[in-house]
Amino acid sequence: MDPARRLLLVHAHPDDESIGTGATMAKYAAEGAQVTLVTCTLGELGEIIPPDLAHLGADAEDRLGEYRIGELAAACAALGVTDHRYLGGPGRWRDSGMTGTAGNDDPRCFWRAGLDEAADALLGVIREVRPQVLVTYDANGFYGHPDHIQAHRVAWHAFQQAGQYGLAKFYATSAADGPVTTEIDATAYLDRKQAAMRAHATQITVDPPYFALSNQVRYDLVGVEYFTLLAGPRGPAAAPGGREGGLFS
Ligand SMILES: [Zn+2]
Repeated sequence: MDPARRLLLVHAHPDDESIGTGATMAKYAAEGAQVTLVTCTLGELGEIIPPDLAHLGADAEDRLGEYRIGELAAACAALGVTDHRYLGGPGRWRDSGMTGTAGNDDPRCFWRAGLDEAADALLGVIREVRPQVLVTYDANGFYGHPDHIQAHRVAWHAFQQAGQYGLAKFYATSAADGPVTTEIDATAYLDRKQAAMRAHATQITVDPPYFALSNQVRYDLVGVEYFTLLAGPRGPAAAPGGREGGLFS
């Protein structure tokens, strides 16, 4: 397969891809684009929702991380995404936990990863896949989680060295009320996004038309996803408000 359009997504933990970009990933995969997902950690420090899986909770063996490898594989299958990797290999960098928690100090954590080493690992994927478009988070990591901030830093560092490989556009995920440049209507793929989110059962409760994380706050399940172009040429206005209607435009 040598698809003309190649999309690379860099996410911090298993489940981030489905929550933030699942409909977009399913849409491009269904349209025949090469969709490559790089996940930076195994999400070892996620809070577990189902009581019957609580025994996987943060322990010395990091069994939750092992378990989430399976959840992410099932989510990718639901999205139709066949190319999935862990940055540096599974378990190379550990979940750092929320800001100010003990996980931030673990020498294995992604927050403490050397920028050059992590960016080199990502550049290896870029050299192989040759994506034109990269999607990750903004400099604040979308909501401030250390691993999301680090994912942005690593992706940006790699992006700045990747022009020779044809990588032209750098996007951050956004919310509908954020500084949106690009709006992807993938409502037709909302069922796939929902299935992918259900696959992350330790982390997400899906109860259409809502979903919730461990804090039990309800959010709408949506098939329209929003992005901010941080570098690269902006395509023609194709969506409301003069926004781009596609990541490759
Ligand atoms: Zn995350």
